Amino acid sequence: MFAIRTKKDVLVYTVIFTLIAVLAAGFAVFLPFAAMGMYQQAVASMLLATVIAGFIAAPISFIALLIVRKVDNAVRKLEDFVKFDQLTGVLARSYFLEHVRQRFADGGALFLVDADHFKKINDTYGHDIGDMALRVIGETLNFNTGKSDAVGRIGGEEFAVFLRGASDDEIVARAEQIRLAMAEKGKVIGGHEINLTVSIGIAKIKKGSTLTVIFKEADENLYTAKNSGRNQFVYGSSDLELTPAIAQLG
Ligand code: GH3
Ligand code: MG
Ligand code: MG
Repeated sequence: MFAIRTKKDVLVYTVIFTLIAVLAAGFAVFLPFAAMGMYQQAVASMLLATVIAGFIAAPISFIALLIVRKVDNAVRKLEDFVKFDQLTGVLARSYFLEHVRQRFADGGALFLVDADHFKKINDTYGHDIGDMALRVIGETLNFNTGKSDAVGRIGGEEFAVFLRGASDDEIVARAEQIRLAMAEKGKVIGGHEINLTVSIGIAKIKKGSTLTVIFKEADENLYTAKNSGRNQFVYGSSDLELTPAIAQLG
Protein backbone atom coordinates (compact mmCIF):
# COMPACT_ATOMS: atom_id res chain seq x y z
CA MET A 1 0.00 0.00 0.00
CA PHE A 2 1.34 3.47 -0.81
CA ALA A 3 1.78 5.87 2.09
CA ILE A 4 0.71 9.52 1.86
CA ARG A 5 2.42 11.23 4.78
CA THR A 6 3.97 14.47 3.51
CA LYS A 7 3.00 17.31 1.17
CA LYS A 8 5.58 15.93 -1.25
CA ASP A 9 3.76 12.55 -1.29
CA VAL A 10 0.51 14.38 -2.10
CA LEU A 11 2.13 16.30 -4.99
CA VAL A 12 3.96 13.28 -6.41
CA TYR A 13 0.84 11.09 -6.41
CA THR A 14 -1.30 13.95 -7.79
CA VAL A 15 1.07 14.17 -10.76
CA ILE A 16 1.08 10.36 -11.21
CA PHE A 17 -2.74 10.05 -11.08
CA THR A 18 -3.21 13.06 -13.37
CA LEU A 19 -0.76 11.62 -15.89
CA ILE A 20 -2.59 8.28 -15.86
CA ALA A 21 -5.95 10.02 -16.41
CA VAL A 22 -4.55 12.23 -19.18
CA LEU A 23 -2.87 9.34 -21.02
CA ALA A 24 -5.92 7.09 -20.69
CA ALA A 25 -8.28 9.81 -22.00
CA GLY A 26 -5.87 10.78 -24.77
CA PHE A 27 -5.47 7.23 -26.07
CA ALA A 28 -9.15 6.40 -25.71
CA VAL A 29 -9.99 9.28 -28.03
CA PHE A 30 -6.98 9.04 -30.36
CA LEU A 31 -7.11 5.34 -31.20
CA PRO A 32 -10.63 5.08 -32.78
CA PHE A 33 -9.98 8.12 -35.02
CA ALA A 34 -6.52 6.86 -35.92
CA ALA A 35 -7.95 3.44 -36.76
CA MET A 36 -10.22 5.10 -39.30
CA GLY A 37 -7.26 7.01 -40.73
CA MET A 38 -8.58 10.37 -39.48
CA TYR A 39 -5.28 11.58 -38.05
CA GLN A 40 -6.09 15.30 -37.89
CA GLN A 41 -9.28 14.67 -35.93
CA ALA A 42 -7.42 12.10 -33.83
CA VAL A 43 -4.81 14.62 -32.70
CA ALA A 44 -7.30 17.44 -32.14
CA SER A 45 -9.65 15.23 -30.12
CA MET A 46 -6.77 13.77 -28.17
CA LEU A 47 -5.53 17.22 -27.16
CA LEU A 48 -9.01 18.26 -26.07
CA ALA A 49 -9.54 15.03 -24.13
CA THR A 50 -6.22 15.30 -22.31
CA VAL A 51 -6.84 18.91 -21.30
CA ILE A 52 -10.32 18.08 -19.95
CA ALA A 53 -9.02 14.96 -18.18
CA GLY A 54 -6.14 16.95 -16.66
CA PHE A 55 -8.47 19.68 -15.39
CA ILE A 56 -10.73 17.11 -13.75
CA ALA A 57 -8.13 14.64 -12.46
CA ALA A 58 -5.62 17.09 -10.96
CA PRO A 59 -7.87 18.87 -8.41
CA ILE A 60 -9.82 15.71 -7.54
CA SER A 61 -6.62 13.71 -6.98
CA PHE A 62 -5.10 16.55 -4.96
CA ILE A 63 -8.10 16.91 -2.65
CA ALA A 64 -8.56 13.14 -2.25
CA LEU A 65 -4.86 12.70 -1.46
CA LEU A 66 -4.95 15.53 1.10
CA ILE A 67 -7.78 13.68 2.85
CA VAL A 68 -5.87 10.38 2.69
CA ARG A 69 -2.81 12.13 4.18
CA LYS A 70 -4.88 13.52 7.07
CA VAL A 71 -6.41 10.11 7.83
CA ASP A 72 -3.06 8.36 7.48
CA ASN A 73 -1.37 10.72 9.94
CA ALA A 74 -4.28 10.58 12.39
CA VAL A 75 -4.24 6.78 12.39
CA ARG A 76 -0.48 6.73 13.01
CA LYS A 77 -0.80 9.20 15.89
CA LEU A 78 -3.59 7.15 17.41
CA GLU A 79 -1.56 3.97 17.00
CA ASP A 80 1.42 5.56 18.77
CA PHE A 81 -0.88 6.78 21.52
CA VAL A 82 -2.20 3.31 22.32
CA LYS A 83 0.98 1.44 21.55
CA PHE A 84 3.33 3.38 23.80
CA ASP A 85 3.14 4.34 27.45
CA GLN A 86 2.74 8.12 27.34
CA LEU A 87 4.89 8.80 30.42
CA THR A 88 7.92 6.63 29.73
CA GLY A 89 7.83 5.97 25.98
CA VAL A 90 8.17 2.18 26.33
CA LEU A 91 5.49 -0.21 25.02
CA ALA A 92 2.14 -0.14 26.76
CA ARG A 93 1.24 -3.29 28.68
CA SER A 94 -1.16 -4.81 26.12
CA TYR A 95 1.22 -4.20 23.20
CA PHE A 96 4.14 -5.62 25.14
CA LEU A 97 2.18 -8.79 25.96
CA GLU A 98 1.10 -9.13 22.32
CA HIS A 99 4.70 -8.62 21.20
CA VAL A 100 5.90 -11.44 23.49
CA ARG A 101 3.01 -13.69 22.47
CA GLN A 102 3.91 -13.32 18.80
CA ARG A 103 7.61 -14.10 19.37
CA PHE A 104 7.19 -16.73 22.04
CA ALA A 105 8.22 -19.57 19.72
CA ASP A 106 11.65 -17.91 19.21
CA GLY A 107 12.47 -18.50 22.89
CA GLY A 108 14.16 -15.98 25.16
CA ALA A 109 13.61 -14.52 28.58
CA LEU A 110 11.21 -12.27 30.41
CA PHE A 111 12.52 -9.77 32.96
CA LEU A 112 10.12 -8.16 35.43
CA VAL A 113 11.82 -4.98 36.57
CA ASP A 114 10.40 -3.23 39.62
CA ALA A 115 11.66 0.04 41.11
CA ASP A 116 12.87 -0.33 44.68
CA HIS A 117 11.18 1.69 47.44
CA PHE A 118 9.47 3.84 44.84
CA LYS A 119 6.74 4.96 47.19
CA LYS A 120 9.42 6.59 49.34
CA ILE A 121 10.66 8.59 46.31
CA ASN A 122 7.16 9.94 45.71
CA ASP A 123 6.65 10.66 49.40
CA THR A 124 10.02 12.40 49.80
CA TYR A 125 10.45 14.33 46.55
CA GLY A 126 6.93 14.53 45.13
CA HIS A 127 5.04 12.90 42.28
CA ASP A 128 6.77 14.91 39.52
CA ILE A 129 10.19 13.61 40.53
CA GLY A 130 8.61 10.15 40.76
CA ASP A 131 7.42 10.54 37.16
CA MET A 132 10.89 11.70 36.15
CA ALA A 133 12.35 8.59 37.79
CA LEU A 134 9.94 6.39 35.81
CA ARG A 135 11.12 8.07 32.60
CA VAL A 136 14.73 7.37 33.60
CA ILE A 137 13.86 3.70 34.09
CA GLY A 138 12.21 3.53 30.65
CA GLU A 139 15.17 5.25 28.96
CA THR A 140 17.71 3.06 30.74
CA LEU A 141 15.89 -0.13 29.80
CA ASN A 142 15.58 0.98 26.17
CA PHE A 143 19.24 1.98 26.06
CA ASN A 144 20.41 -1.34 27.50
CA THR A 145 18.39 -3.65 25.27
CA GLY A 146 18.81 -4.62 21.64
CA LYS A 147 16.73 -4.10 18.52
CA SER A 148 15.10 -7.53 18.70
CA ASP A 149 14.18 -7.07 22.37
CA ALA A 150 11.14 -5.28 23.77
CA VAL A 151 10.56 -3.05 26.78
CA GLY A 152 7.12 -2.43 28.26
CA ARG A 153 5.50 -0.81 31.26
CA ILE A 154 3.43 -3.45 32.97
CA GLY A 155 1.90 -1.08 35.52
CA GLY A 156 2.86 1.60 38.05
CA GLU A 157 6.58 1.31 38.71
CA GLU A 158 6.90 -2.14 37.18
CA PHE A 159 8.45 -2.68 33.77
CA ALA A 160 9.15 -5.76 31.67
CA VAL A 161 11.83 -6.67 29.17
CA PHE A 162 11.65 -9.48 26.63
CA LEU A 163 15.01 -10.72 25.38
CA ARG A 164 14.15 -12.58 22.20
CA GLY A 165 16.05 -15.85 21.74
CA ALA A 166 18.57 -15.05 24.49
CA SER A 167 20.90 -17.74 25.88
CA ASP A 168 21.63 -18.24 29.59
CA ASP A 169 24.89 -16.27 29.35
CA GLU A 170 23.22 -13.40 27.53
CA ILE A 171 20.38 -13.32 30.06
CA VAL A 172 22.70 -13.07 33.05
CA ALA A 173 25.00 -10.52 31.36
CA ARG A 174 22.04 -8.33 30.32
CA ALA A 175 20.43 -8.50 33.76
CA GLU A 176 23.62 -7.34 35.43
CA GLN A 177 24.10 -4.64 32.78
CA ILE A 178 20.58 -3.31 33.42
CA ARG A 179 20.96 -3.48 37.20
CA LEU A 180 24.25 -1.56 37.11
CA ALA A 181 23.03 0.99 34.55
CA MET A 182 19.93 1.65 36.63
CA ALA A 183 21.93 2.13 39.82
CA GLU A 184 24.17 4.59 37.94
CA LYS A 185 21.38 6.56 36.20
CA GLY A 186 19.29 6.49 39.37
CA LYS A 187 21.90 8.17 41.56
CA VAL A 188 20.74 11.71 40.85
CA ILE A 189 17.33 12.48 39.33
CA GLY A 190 15.97 15.99 38.93
CA GLY A 191 18.86 17.34 40.98
CA HIS A 192 18.04 15.09 43.93
CA GLU A 193 20.30 12.38 45.27
CA ILE A 194 17.78 9.56 45.01
CA ASN A 195 19.86 6.41 44.51
CA LEU A 196 17.05 4.65 42.73
CA THR A 197 17.66 0.95 42.06
CA VAL A 198 15.61 -1.87 40.56
CA SER A 199 14.99 -5.52 41.38
CA ILE A 200 14.64 -7.98 38.53
CA GLY A 201 12.84 -11.33 38.39
CA ILE A 202 13.74 -13.45 35.37
CA ALA A 203 12.17 -16.43 33.63
CA LYS A 204 13.36 -18.19 30.51
CA ILE A 205 11.05 -19.75 27.95
CA LYS A 206 11.38 -23.52 28.11
CA LYS A 207 9.73 -26.43 26.34
CA GLY A 208 6.03 -26.34 27.15
CA SER A 209 6.20 -22.79 28.62
CA THR A 210 3.29 -20.42 28.24
CA LEU A 211 3.11 -16.68 28.78
CA THR A 212 1.29 -17.36 32.05
CA VAL A 213 4.03 -19.69 33.25
CA ILE A 214 6.94 -17.36 32.52
CA PHE A 215 5.14 -14.39 34.09
CA LYS A 216 4.49 -16.47 37.19
CA GLU A 217 8.11 -17.57 37.40
CA ALA A 218 9.51 -14.08 36.79
CA ASP A 219 7.11 -12.66 39.39
CA GLU A 220 8.18 -15.20 41.98
CA ASN A 221 11.82 -14.44 41.28
CA LEU A 222 11.11 -10.73 41.59
CA TYR A 223 9.54 -11.42 44.96
CA THR A 224 12.69 -13.29 46.00
CA ALA A 225 14.90 -10.42 44.77
CA LYS A 226 12.87 -7.96 46.86
CA ASN A 227 13.05 -10.14 49.95
CA SER A 228 16.78 -10.71 49.52
CA GLY A 229 17.61 -7.00 49.82
CA ARG A 230 16.59 -5.47 46.41
CA ASN A 231 19.00 -4.00 43.77
CA GLN A 232 19.56 -7.50 42.37
CA PHE A 233 18.27 -9.99 39.84
CA VAL A 234 17.07 -13.52 40.47
CA TYR A 235 17.20 -16.10 37.70
CA GLY A 236 16.26 -19.71 38.37
CA SER A 237 13.20 -21.94 38.59
CA SER A 238 10.73 -21.47 41.37
CA ASP A 239 7.54 -23.46 41.99
CA LEU A 240 4.93 -21.44 43.80
CA GLU A 241 1.22 -21.78 42.99
CA LEU A 242 -0.31 -19.74 40.15
CA THR A 243 -2.11 -16.66 41.45
CA PRO A 244 -5.39 -15.69 39.71
CA ALA A 245 -4.00 -12.22 38.85
CA ILE A 246 -1.11 -13.70 36.93
CA ALA A 247 -3.09 -16.60 35.51
CA GLN A 248 -5.36 -14.27 33.55
CA LEU A 249 -2.44 -13.02 31.43
CA GLY A 250 -2.05 -15.89 29.22
P1 GH3 B 1 9.21 -2.22 46.58
O1 GH3 B 1 10.67 -1.96 46.70
O2 GH3 B 1 8.78 -3.33 47.48
O3 GH3 B 1 8.76 -2.42 45.18
O4 GH3 B 1 8.47 -0.93 47.16
P2 GH3 B 1 7.74 0.21 46.36
O5 GH3 B 1 7.59 1.38 47.25
O6 GH3 B 1 8.43 0.45 45.07
O7 GH3 B 1 6.35 -0.48 46.01
P3 GH3 B 1 4.90 -0.03 46.34
O8 GH3 B 1 4.02 -0.98 45.56
O9 GH3 B 1 4.68 0.03 47.82
O10 GH3 B 1 4.74 1.42 45.76
C1 GH3 B 1 4.72 1.70 44.42
C2 GH3 B 1 4.51 3.17 44.25
O11 GH3 B 1 4.60 3.56 42.88
C3 GH3 B 1 3.16 3.62 44.74
C4 GH3 B 1 2.62 4.48 43.63
O12 GH3 B 1 2.13 5.70 44.11
C5 GH3 B 1 3.82 4.71 42.74
N1 GH3 B 1 3.43 4.92 41.35
C6 GH3 B 1 2.76 4.07 40.53
N2 GH3 B 1 2.57 4.63 39.32
C7 GH3 B 1 3.13 5.86 39.36
C8 GH3 B 1 3.25 6.93 38.42
O13 GH3 B 1 2.81 6.85 37.27
N3 GH3 B 1 3.91 8.06 38.81
C9 GH3 B 1 4.44 8.16 40.07
N4 GH3 B 1 5.06 9.29 40.39
N5 GH3 B 1 4.31 7.20 40.99
C10 GH3 B 1 3.69 6.06 40.65
MG1 MG C 1 8.51 -1.14 43.61
MG1 MG D 1 5.62 -2.82 42.13
